[in-house]
This record gives sequence, structure tokens and C-alpha cells, in this order.
Amino acid sequence: NSPVITIDGPSGSGKGTIAFRLAQKLEWPILDSGAIYRVLGLAAHQAGIASTNINELVKLARDLPLTFVTEQSSDEVVAYLDGEPVGDAIRTDEAGQRASEVAVIPEVRSALLARQRDFQQPPGLIADGRDMGTVVFPDADAKIFLTASAETRAERRFNQLKQKGISASLCALLESIKERDERDRTRTVAPLVPAAGAFVVDSSTLSIDEVFSQVYEYSMK
Ligand code: C5P
Repeated sequence: NSPVITIDGPSGSGKGTIAFRLAQKLEWPILDSGAIYRVLGLAAHQAGIASTNINELVKLARDLPLTFVTEQSSDEVVAYLDGEPVGDAIRTDEAGQRASEVAVIPEVRSALLARQRDFQQPPGLIADGRDMGTVVFPDADAKIFLTASAETRAERRFNQLKQKGISASLCALLESIKERDERDRTRTVAPLVPAAGAFVVDSSTLSIDEVFSQVYEYSMK
């Protein structure tokens, strides 16, 4: 099997940034599993499917016409739903909440498993999410768990959204992050916990460069 490095952690922990850097360094692609849940939440919303309608959500998850394309200019991975780029519609706080609502459903998670595992291909994969090391790639070669205080994460999210021109309130973001954390941590299937043996980094007081060098060193061992 091709090598996999998993990077799990809560929203705003710096996973995305670290995954991107690692992917650039190793020249491996990234699986942004959060984007899959976000697109599913968006598609369900557009189709008027309630987060309680498990049968319809599972059907949607199984048949979701979702593809990822790497942009040549920026190396950024863009999600396409039904052949159309979804853009920043999946990056809003509301989209994150919707994603976490569909993500609590065990049948939905199972329906997305094969789609995620298909990303394991040569030369290797950086898998970014919540359960990459615990459920999707339990045999991964290196498992990383990034975390940071809720306040730090809310601030990072705030700045990220600002950069994208999406307005938000810091206070509301902090509340939202806490709510989403709670839902992600306490769900019965694939709760957000470090995988056994994972390398845990708290990035609250570290720079991106510091986090990256620790993660890179660990991954190369
Ligand atoms: O990482 P991101 O913030 O994009 O993820 C959005 C939501 O999708 C998370 O809050 C979580 O509920 C869900 N998710 C998940 N398992 C993953 C990735 C994301 O449950 N592997």
C-alpha cells in the first residue's frame, strides 16, 4: 500500500496549512475530508434534505457527484459539485455547522469511507480531517493530531474568513467553534480524539514554521 500521513484535529488547529506545506514538500496530494462533509451538507441543503432524513442523506452521500481538481496556478484543491466549482460556499461558518450535522450520522460516514480510501495512491497521501488516523486510514505510516485553544482557533478562523472577504463576528465564531467541537467530540461514531500513538502538537503558542518543523521531523522518522 502507498504511504499515508494523517493529520487530524479540530477546526482552526492549523491542519489545513500544515497538510498543504507537507504536501508541497513531499509532492503528494491532499485529501481534504472536511470538504467532502461540507459539500455533502451544502448539497443536502440545496436539495432541501433535512439533517434528520438519514435515508436521503445516505443516498446523497453515496452518489454525490463530487470531484477534486488541483489548480495549476496555486496548487490549491478545488471541489466540484456536478461539474461546477463550489467555491467559498463551503467555507462559511454555516457550511461548517451543516457539515458537522451530517457528519454525526454513522451511516453517512460509512457511505463516504470508500470514496476517501480511494485517495490512497502512489506516491503517497496527506489525509486531513477528524478521523483519518482512527477510522479511515488506521494503518497510516505517521499520525499527527493538531490542537489549539478554542480562542486561538476562533481568531485564526476569523482572519481566514476576513482574507476571503467573508465577514464574521469573533464572538459568534468562538461560540460556533465550541458548539462544533462539542458535536465532533461527543458523537458516537468516529469522535474527534487522537489516534493511538499519534504525535500530538498544541499549536496555541507556536508559529506555523515551528509546528511544521516538528511535524515534518516526526513524519520522516
Ligand atoms: O475540517 P472542516 O472544518 O472542513 O470539517 C467540517 C466538519 O466536517 C467538521 O466539523 C466535522 O464535523 C466534519 N468532519 C468529520 N470527519 C472528517 C472531516 C470533517 O466528521 N474526517
